[in-house]
Amino acid sequence: MRLFECGSLVPGCDWHTRADSDAEVIRRTVDHMKQTHGETTIRESMIENIRARLVNETKAA
Ligand SMILES: [Zn+2]
Repeated sequence: MRLFECGSLVPGCDWHTRADSDAEVIRRTVDHMKQTHGETTIRESMIENIRARLVNETKAA
């Protein structure tokens, strides 16, 4: 699973999401940026910032 924690990009935000693919995590994060942080235009640089902060999440067996 891939995990994105919004607090790594927007200090103080405790929202996070996880999905099987980078693309799905990014899609959900873009929705969150629009709905919660009032972003109207998602620039390529923001996508890169999100992508750079994706982490692998390994399930504890
Ligand atoms: Zn957030």
